[in-house]
Amino acid sequence: VAELVKSIAHTTDLRDTYVPGHRTCAGCGPALAYRLVAKAAGENTIFIGPTGCMYVANTSYACGPWAVPWTHAQITNGGAVASGIAEAFRMMIKKGKIQDKFPNVIVMAGDGGCSDIGLQAMSAMFYRGHKVLCVMYDNESYANTGIQVSPSTPYGATTMFTPAGPAIPEAKKHQMKDPMPIFLAGGHPYLKYGATASIGYPIDLMNKIRRGLAEDGPAFVHLHSPCPKGWSFPPERTIEIAKLAVETGMWNLYEVENGDWAHKKFSVMPKKLKPVDEYLQTQARFCHLQPEHVAKIQNFVNNRAKALGMEVPLPPAQ
Ligand code: SF4
Ligand code: MG
Repeated sequence: VAELVKSIAHTTDLRDTYVPGHRTCAGCGPALAYRLVAKAAGENTIFIGPTGCMYVANTSYACGPWAVPWTHAQITNGGAVASGIAEAFRMMIKKGKIQDKFPNVIVMAGDGGCSDIGLQAMSAMFYRGHKVLCVMYDNESYANTGIQVSPSTPYGATTMFTPAGPAIPEAKKHQMKDPMPIFLAGGHPYLKYGATASIGYPIDLMNKIRRGLAEDGPAFVHLHSPCPKGWSFPPERTIEIAKLAVETGMWNLYEVENGDWAHKKFSVMPKKLKPVDEYLQTQARFCHLQPEHVAKIQNFVNNRAKALGMEVPLPPAQ
């Protein structure tokens, strides 16, 4: 048995290529996201890391936790750097200059590096159709600079730039930007596969990574990754909170295949959605919310579930 375990542990499928030696916070959701993405992708992989927590906290003092090639990109140009790497490999293989198998090219961008500051390069990469998987690890803020608001920050969340106060008692006053329809619902003709994923559902997440890498073109995975420091919860509750997001409808798990935005395939469908209050109460970033703010979030979640086509009982609208 020991020999069998040893031989299995050396197969590509089970080996970790995101290894110890980084300085992320205890309970960091994006670090676990990276580990699972790397494990699913395997050894023939190149990571591009635009500036974000998964660059800054992973690369202090010239150390890195990757057992595969990794390069930094600016927060603005992750899509451009990934495009160049993919095209260089494609042309060198085509011209017979190298005998390599085309690698998995994965750009691991935060919410800022993908859907805000980095949006133009990512959009251009999708539009041109390079064979790159973009994983947006979403911790709902600009975390590596001290938890500033990003378009992914949910309505009602406190950040350094959105403190609750007399003028805006709910803190963040807009609902979050959703990058999936921006990328998948038209305008990027080569982008055929998009999926939402969560570190609370690791097998589903890894399957979606492999599905995205199997595309003969670009693919996009939007990965919900709770951040204990930015969201103010104890580090041992990361997975519980990730799951609670799905159970309350604060996060939904689905896939879009063949570019068919109108027909989403849900990979996890709760039997019914729990009230959002159960999720909000786990995080101090929401502790200032009044009942009218919670009602607004519940209504938003209910409307989004209906718009996505989720046919499950919803908590009462308020
Ligand atoms: Fe991870 Fe959040 Fe800490 Fe950044 S701030 S290292 S995302 S837990
Ligand atoms: Mg972020």
